[in-house]
Amino acid sequence: MHELGIAASILESVQKEAERHAGARISKVGVKIGELAGVDPDALQFGFEVLVKDTEWEKLVLDLEYIPRTQRCPKCAYDFRMTDFDPRCPLCGELATECISGEELDIAYMEVDE
Ligand SMILES: [Zn+2]
Repeated sequence: MHELGIAASILESVQKEAERHAGARISKVGVKIGELAGVDPDALQFGFEVLVKDTEWEKLVLDLEYIPRTQRCPKCAYDFRMTDFDPRCPLCGELATECISGEELDIAYMEVDE
């Protein structure tokens, strides 16, 4: 289950951030997961809870934001949600559209309790 490895690297980033701000308590971490990142949000959430259980990070909340795959049409600049593996532009029928989001796997924010 590679979600556990991702959970570990999220926690590592939070720990590093906490070290930079001595005395601050990070209470929440927001993570963006793109549809194409190949991560199961439920498995990640579960893995994270297992990881922080009975540690000083037990109260840390993981807030996952799911980013759907979005394509942009180069001809008419229309952005659309790609479904059924069909990248065709629904407005003009252009086939060669470009993926503009859905590959994210990033920490979006951290919330600090002063
Ligand atoms: Zn188009």
